[in-house]
Amino acid sequence: MRMRLPPLPTVGEIIRLYRLRAKKHLSQNFLLDLNLTKKIVCSAGKLDNGFVCEVGPGPGGITRSLLETNLRQLVVIEKDRRFVPGLQLLADAAEGRMAIVHGDILLCDLSSVIPQDVARPWEDNSPNIHLIGNLPFNVSTPLIIRWLEEISNKTGPWKFGRTKLTLTFQKEVAERMVARTLSKQRCRLSVMCQNLCDIHLKFIIPGKAFVPPPKVDVAVVQFIPRVKPMINHPFKLVEKVCRHLFHFRNKHCKHTLATLFPPDMPELTAEMLEETGINPETRSYMLSMGDMSKFCDTYRSICDRIPFMLEYNYRDPENIKKYHNKRIMVTEMLEDRILNDGITDDEDVLSKAS
Ligand code: SAM
Repeated sequence: MRMRLPPLPTVGEIIRLYRLRAKKHLSQNFLLDLNLTKKIVCSAGKLDNGFVCEVGPGPGGITRSLLETNLRQLVVIEKDRRFVPGLQLLADAAEGRMAIVHGDILLCDLSSVIPQDVARPWEDNSPNIHLIGNLPFNVSTPLIIRWLEEISNKTGPWKFGRTKLTLTFQKEVAERMVARTLSKQRCRLSVMCQNLCDIHLKFIIPGKAFVPPPKVDVAVVQFIPRVKPMINHPFKLVEKVCRHLFHFRNKHCKHTLATLFPPDMPELTAEMLEETGINPETRSYMLSMGDMSKFCDTYRSICDRIPFMLEYNYRDPENIKKYHNKRIMVTEMLEDRILNDGITDDEDVLSKAS
């Protein structure tokens, strides 16, 4: 059964009534076609009695379709104050089921708006909590990276279980997110998304369906957090290994791995290859999730032994200076120890210097 709203002005009439011209510099492109907004809402799954958070509702097309379901509570978060009066019309019609937050989603702590009673243990099915949004592309990509980190740490909306996400992205970005091993679009984003979530590209919306139309097509993507990530290491470590491996996605991994370590320690790259048994001439886009996991295991064990390796960044001159000072200190310590007690355990000294 679908909920009926009292008669309301159409989205187009709200735009005219409140003079809501899309701001090009904010990449505002609106969906006025209620068949498409319904399709986005349906792709989020069953919302009956659920808690839904919509990010960037704008003039409220998706919001309306959400309110037509039997959801229990909808919270919308909109940065541009001009949209608040139009959204208030919808909130009034929704009779207590909708709340408006005027704010920036990149600064919001969503866990504070989610009711505790919808929480589920992580290992259960997803809780009846849904995050939905058609945001500008320059917001949706940094937002998903932030949310993936929260999924990995089970914080924010993921304190409540494996909360699902349904978001729009530029079609090419969505294709990279779902790209499998050996695919042309396989990149760091593919590994970061697939490591933590089951991810589905639901459907494509042609750019011309928006007002004003963007130059690109748009994809609706759903993310369902996995019970266990495919790579069992902290988000930052996985992100670093992926960043280095995919910096030049066509280069052999023996070269990309080498950038994880100072140039005067080639033995560490050799260790990464020997321990994992991965062919040194494999290119990044050919690496499976299992290969990525093996590289992260070995990198982690190197960093446990030599902790400053985790901070090493070959592109930051300050960091390299710091690393060199540590190397000088290590060399001095080693010389001292060899002179004093004949100990030559290089790695023991390295880990103490970190
Ligand atoms: N969802 C509406 C639709 O489909 O017609 C509007 C889409 S428009 C592409 C993006 C909306 O997100 C705009 O209303 C914009 O003001 C809002 N927005 C942009 N950045 C935001 C942010 N950081 N936090 C919350 N809302 C944001």
